[in-house]
Amino acid sequence: MVQGPVLVFAESLGQDFRKASLEAVTEGKRIAGIVNTSLVAVAIGNGIKDRTSYLGAYGADTVLVADAPELKTFHPDYYRTVGLEAVRKVNPGVILMPATSSGKDLAPRLAIHLNTVVATEATKLDVEHDRLVATRPVYAGKAFLRVTMKSSPFIATLRPNAFNAKQAPSSKTPHVEELQFNKPQSRMTVHEYHAHAGKKMDLTEANVIVSGGRGMGGPENYKILEELAETLGGVVGASRASVDAGWRPHSDQVGQTGRTVSPTLYIACGISGAIQHRVGMINSKVIVAINKDPEAPIFGFADYGIVGDVFQVVPALTNELRRYLGK
Ligand SMILES: Cc1cc2nc3c(=O)[nH]c(=O)nc-3n(C[C@H](O)[C@H](O)[C@H](O)COP(=O)(O)OP(=O)(O)OC[C@H]3O[C@@H](n4cnc5c(N)ncnc54)[C@H](O)[C@@H]3O)c2cc1C
Repeated sequence: MVQGPVLVFAESLGQDFRKASLEAVTEGKRIAGIVNTSLVAVAIGNGIKDRTSYLGAYGADTVLVADAPELKTFHPDYYRTVGLEAVRKVNPGVILMPATSSGKDLAPRLAIHLNTVVATEATKLDVEHDRLVATRPVYAGKAFLRVTMKSSPFIATLRPNAFNAKQAPSSKTPHVEELQFNKPQSRMTVHEYHAHAGKKMDLTEANVIVSGGRGMGGPENYKILEELAETLGGVVGASRASVDAGWRPHSDQVGQTGRTVSPTLYIACGISGAIQHRVGMINSKVIVAINKDPEAPIFGFADYGIVGDVFQVVPALTNELRRYLGK
């Protein structure tokens, strides 16, 4: 039985909340509406106090803020301490957080202290017979598991981009409370946080991704993908084959051992469509595949397929789009 408020951990990136956090807050609001309870968001970070109204816009009734220099970046013990303090205060029936690297670390830490279990990487939540049911992919997305938890609180991490971030129709100013942060003893020290070099938008937040695989033939050829991505206001991604070849950084990798993305448009260039790649991009709204092999598996699940050589098709597409968009 879902009893008690829905508690959502809203992860911040600097002084902004991550898109995945806003997706979790939006979903939390939906669940809170179904079971007729309130939504409490927890904001942990440094310099985020003034940003709490943002969470109200996405439906949080209350925002608990833990704002301290030590909380600027994720620290497993510090964040767990704040998390447990929030749980003690709210006594939630459901705890949600994005399945980011921090969320994936925090959720089981909370679960073990609360003697409950976690549904990881949920792509859908339902309420059935007053219980929360999480749908999560298994076998690299080949099958889906529906999990109903018997223990409470029900904890789930939500796969980024599987849920929509939508402002609540009647946004209100949330009630804001400060959470006490008493720095716990820890055997871990977080020295520094290194954001990925360069100013490139995170793949998981991109609306358009132009991805290149082994068919690109070498790192220098990604220039044509960068031009196409730039024309569409997107970013470049990659298959594991091209990352393993050292053509692209690992942060560009889409798939089972890379990022899970769901842009509005995913253009796969010279990518065969192996299951491990597919699982990371299948939630894209529109998939376009460019491949010279008409039998390539990617044509089995692309919305639009172009059988052709990327070195002819991509520049032609970029030119046409530039002309069309007046760029
Ligand atoms: C445990 C595990 C985890 C994995 N995780 C991932 C993951 O996260 N992400 C991932 O991507 N893969 C992952 N893989 C690897 C995956 O199985 C594939 O090997 C990989 O996705 C293949 O990459 P690719 O499509 O670029 O290369 P290929 O399979 O070699 O395909 C290249 C394609 O390019 C086409 N092509 C060649 N030249 C041209 C041209 N000039 N114009 C047009 N098309 C052309 C070919 O027809 C071919 O279809 C994983 C594998 C394992 C075992």
